[in-house]
Amino acid sequence: MELRFGAKEEALREDVRAFLKTNLPKTADTGGAGMGSRSDEDFQAAREFNRKLSEKGWIAPAWPKEYGGLGASIYEQIVFNEEFGYHGAPDTGTRGFGVGMIGPTLIIHGNEAQKKKYLPKITSGEHIWCQGYSEPGSGSDLASLQTRAYRDGDEYVINGQKIWTSGGHRANQMFTLVRTDPEAPKHRGISFLLIDDIKNVPGLTIRPLVNMANRHHFNEVFFEDVRVPAENLIGEENRGWYVGMTLLDFERSGIGVTAGQRHTLEALTAVLKAADPEKRKKNRLKLADLVVGNNVGKYLGYRIGHMQASGRVPNYEASVVKIYQSELGQRIYNWGLNMLGLAGQLMPEESRAPLGGDLPESYLAAVPSSIYSGTNEIQRNIIATRGLGLPRG
Ligand SMILES: Cc1cc2nc3c(=O)[nH]c(=O)nc-3n(C[C@H](O)[C@H](O)[C@H](O)COP(=O)(O)OP(=O)(O)OC[C@H]3O[C@@H](n4cnc5c(N)ncnc54)[C@H](O)[C@@H]3O)c2cc1C
Repeated sequence: MELRFGAKEEALREDVRAFLKTNLPKTADTGGAGMGSRSDEDFQAAREFNRKLSEKGWIAPAWPKEYGGLGASIYEQIVFNEEFGYHGAPDTGTRGFGVGMIGPTLIIHGNEAQKKKYLPKITSGEHIWCQGYSEPGSGSDLASLQTRAYRDGDEYVINGQKIWTSGGHRANQMFTLVRTDPEAPKHRGISFLLIDDIKNVPGLTIRPLVNMANRHHFNEVFFEDVRVPAENLIGEENRGWYVGMTLLDFERSGIGVTAGQRHTLEALTAVLKAADPEKRKKNRLKLADLVVGNNVGKYLGYRIGHMQASGRVPNYEASVVKIYQSELGQRIYNWGLNMLGLAGQLMPEESRAPLGGDLPESYLAAVPSSIYSGTNEIQRNIIATRGLGLPRG
């Protein structure tokens, strides 16, 4: 068996690399999931980068042409993900939440008017999405959510609160789950709504939550009689749980994450090559171990890609990747930080920071990676029940 990309994908890879060489913003750090842009300038640079991608049809290359994609294959999409991940291409909530989550959900559950309205604004980079799922009392047990919406004529009226809304302060659009029938069993009384122009819709308040890296990434979002047109309902009323779960199936295969980890390991290898023999001796086996782990992560990601290319929906297999990559990332950045010594703790603002201060940022960003997108305990439950067939409980 030989595993490699074809000539078409390799040619595309060269194109993507050439594009990134010229167009990757120098400063547009978005710090990975859980971190957020360092500054408004970084965010604007990320927006501009997405605009350039859009001109080439590269925001959502694997989408059908009628929705602003290129009709590219999953294998070509993997090439994009790998190169973007390796080179740290920034995003704004357009590619992650837009292309990665709400877009494919609309392609499956949206009506034609909804597809026509929203998909082109994702591929143009205009819409920046955020996810309004979690609530103060509903995280892992998401179906217990309490944010209420009732129908009033041609509108839904929303009251309640969401939390941990990543990038909510930068976004202009939100997809959210709300309870439309409080009497029904908990999974059957939920609807999936889109909220347009969240900065200007009356009754919606966004309050910052600053994370442990001192970045404003999360938010609390409060709804007081927020009115949303009924046409923003995706799928049927009270059947939103199933729409919302489709969206979670589109969590990425983690290919970009693995490529980003590989980039860090290569940088740390170069540091170790130049280090004194004592340090090399102390660290070489650990480095080799992590590189082996990174290769395993790569092939686990390819497995997901291959399943998608064969028309299968990854399920517990995606949970395997999520656990593996998040925990490997924590090990890589923990080891890297220690290997660099005290200077390794210097943040990017400090000009003498080794590797541009990437390590402490990546270390901090890796901590919540075993919490978001469903905690690793929940992922282990999925593997135990759906993968191994063990009974629940
Ligand atoms: C960086 C980051 C970004 C996020 N971005 C968003 C976002 O944009 N939008 C959004 O809606 N949410 C977001 N979240 C929230 C995230 O989805 C929740 O934090 C996550 O689902 C866990 O919920 P919780 O925090 O309420 O923890 P809880 O559900 O209260 O869990 C607490 C602990 O109990 C464990 N536990 C709970 N139930 C079980 C079980 N059945 N079996 C075994 N262990 C269990 C959990 O694994 C965890 O260790 C984000 C979170 C983080 C960290």
